[in-house]
Amino acid sequence: MILTTGGTGYIGSHTVVELQKAGFEVLIIDNLSNSNAEIIDRIEQITGIRPFFELLDLKNKEKTFDLFKKYPKIEAVVHFAASKAVGESVQKPLMYYENNIGSLLNILQAMEKYHCLHFVFSSSCTVYGQPDILPVTEKSIRQPAESPYGNTKMISEDIIKDFAVSNKSFQAIALRYFNPIGAHESGLIGELPNGIPNNLVPFVTQTAFGLRPKLSIFGNDYNTPDGSCIRDYINVVDLAQAHVVAIKRLLDNKNKNNFEFFNIGTGKGISVLEIVKTFEKVTDLKLNYEIIGRRIGDIEKIWAETSLANEELGWKAQRNLEETLLSAWNWECNYRKTN
Ligand code: UDP
Repeated sequence: MILTTGGTGYIGSHTVVELQKAGFEVLIIDNLSNSNAEIIDRIEQITGIRPFFELLDLKNKEKTFDLFKKYPKIEAVVHFAASKAVGESVQKPLMYYENNIGSLLNILQAMEKYHCLHFVFSSSCTVYGQPDILPVTEKSIRQPAESPYGNTKMISEDIIKDFAVSNKSFQAIALRYFNPIGAHESGLIGELPNGIPNNLVPFVTQTAFGLRPKLSIFGNDYNTPDGSCIRDYINVVDLAQAHVVAIKRLLDNKNKNNFEFFNIGTGKGISVLEIVKTFEKVTDLKLNYEIIGRRIGDIEKIWAETSLANEELGWKAQRNLEETLLSAWNWECNYRKTN
């Protein structure tokens, strides 16, 4: 049995589907602070299997320990549960440290006590800041975090590293996600931001659907070919599949180190304007947008070197930008029509 913390969230729910498709039994825990229990029905609709579910806040140490007592079959943990809004983390840093670091400590302590020692962690390319050399490899140096959220990812990696040094039986993989976008092809699960989206693609799809009057593009005076920022946009199903191969690598003892890191991206840099143009092309819609000033804290450009994940995990992004943006649009339309 694989425990997925935050398994009803955006990346978590897609990973649960892929884990089930790969034959794993899955237990989800979530406090539903930023997701909905209905996702469990939708996962069941997609896979035909209902995952186990426990409503649990990982900040509750006693209940986290009790969970491992109740489910002695847990053999690995994929840890998604975390707060993830960069701007909010600047306003509420203590809440972010408590949620993201406190929860990590509790789950690791419970795992140690119950001898469940396989761990996959959701990290982020945010740890690289603005790299001098592109694409970034796993060896690129980490830069001081720009926000408390980013800092929780740095600190979490360090905590996992220290624990891995102290306990050689503990086996962990951190996946450094680039920019996850898109949705499951069924249109039943996808990204559902709370309130006004911070991220580009949900803002694009909500604008196209008429929920927002206009997309603001933050800056066209960057040192990039069209002046807008560049990111590495990774399809969420491809990303979910990276977790499945990471889990298999740990369970099959194929890892070379007891704490490994992998970049999970496409290896291709795409600009904000390219996202808009590609979205317009695949949907045959015109998007209302304007170019405004830069957003504070934005990185100019980043994309991943993915050969380590290709070679070691045998994983490579499969889905192209066109189908990924179409899947995001399909999800937005499906969700709005039924909710
Ligand atoms: N972006 C934008 N308008 C928006 C949201 C985002 O122009 O309403 C740009 C943002 O400046 C960045 C890119 O889209 O260059 C991706 O932003 P997102 O917040 O999705 O991801 P992150 O900045 O964390 O990589």
